[in-house]
Amino acid sequence: MADRFEIGVLGGGQLARMTMLAAHRLGVTIASYDPDPHGPAAQVGPTVVGALTDPDAMAAFLSRCDRAVLDSEFVPVCTIRAAMKQAGFPPNRLVPDDAFLAVIQDKLAQRQLYRVAGVPSPEARGLYGESAPPRAYPVVLKSRFGGYDGKGTRVIRTREDWDAAVEIRAAGDWLEEDFVPFRHEVAVMVARTPTETVAYRPVITVQPNLVCEYTVPYDGSSELIQRAQTVAIAAVEAIGAAVGLFGVELFLTATGEFVVNEIAPRPHNTGHATMDDAGTSQFEQLVRIATGLPLGPVVESPTVGMANLLGPGDGSADGASDPERLRAARASVGGVEPFARVHWYGKQQVRAGRKLGHINVPGIVSLANLPRLRAAADAFWRGYGTAASGASGS
Ligand code: ADP
Repeated sequence: MADRFEIGVLGGGQLARMTMLAAHRLGVTIASYDPDPHGPAAQVGPTVVGALTDPDAMAAFLSRCDRAVLDSEFVPVCTIRAAMKQAGFPPNRLVPDDAFLAVIQDKLAQRQLYRVAGVPSPEARGLYGESAPPRAYPVVLKSRFGGYDGKGTRVIRTREDWDAAVEIRAAGDWLEEDFVPFRHEVAVMVARTPTETVAYRPVITVQPNLVCEYTVPYDGSSELIQRAQTVAIAAVEAIGAAVGLFGVELFLTATGEFVVNEIAPRPHNTGHATMDDAGTSQFEQLVRIATGLPLGPVVESPTVGMANLLGPGDGSADGASDPERLRAARASVGGVEPFARVHWYGKQQVRAGRKLGHINVPGIVSLANLPRLRAAADAFWRGYGTAASGASGS
């Protein structure tokens, strides 16, 4: 393994893996830091094994890196700060910086900064055991720290729901916020260097169970597109003048307002279509930002949709990266969408709903094309399952 790297990625999941692949293409040296020596990122480049809560091991890693980026916003900021101090790693070499990350890790602080900056976002209140019930329903209860993919989010529709959430209210680290009756959930990737800020085209995210399953390009008027991009950039600026790549999640209301839900300080699931839209992928953009290159061009009207490959509920994807199954699954997708690209993350352990890969399908321009994304994902799992039964000889 080399001694030094231009970029170190804190975490070794699929976002780290795809960032590393983009870095390799540009000839940028990169390594990941993760407790799992066989995770998605470790399969495509050097990995230093260490716990995300171990400041000593993280400091040893950072001392070998010029810049650091994030695979996940859940790497504890106190660990990162201790590691940076120990390694003599300047805070501005973390992309985005630790102050930005500290706010992102606290959903209540995030909401408060949006309010101070006048960025539209649901009103939120800290929740304590004796908090009075809301005057109107629905409301949303959210874990201040650590929620992801809808884990840590509860929609409270009735007084009975409120009463049943007694443990959450007593926990002391949840918040209550206004429910936004959105027409669509939309996301905008924002890329920021010290001299440039660029917003990608918004996508509509389809999240039937509080987790994103599909994205399609947002086909609103150019005025609405621009409004979404403006709100997304304002949200990033409200948290801090940080340099980095950000996934900004928005609600689009029935009256055409964009309301900020939250920011991910890293590449985002809703930006995966950029890998195959003939512009600069979100991962390449992050590598460019971290290494001081100018931003790459962004396609104004992309026509690529994305279907997540979420672990099946029956656990049938155990030993997920079985080559026979993957061959059959790819062939099956090719049968319905010959130009689709399957991206697979190499995870070995499968839980229901876990993100195992995604499919980018060209020629998708609006929600009307959603059935094609569904059909592509269905074809994948059909092929995958067929190969499994073939391999077992049944
Ligand atoms: P996570 O960080 O777990 O993804 P989110 O804050 O994104 O949590 O919430 C998950 C989902 O819950 C959102 O994508 C949205 O569908 C729904 N949701 C969250 N907050 C609100 C809200 N204030 N009003 C309406 N729906 C919400």
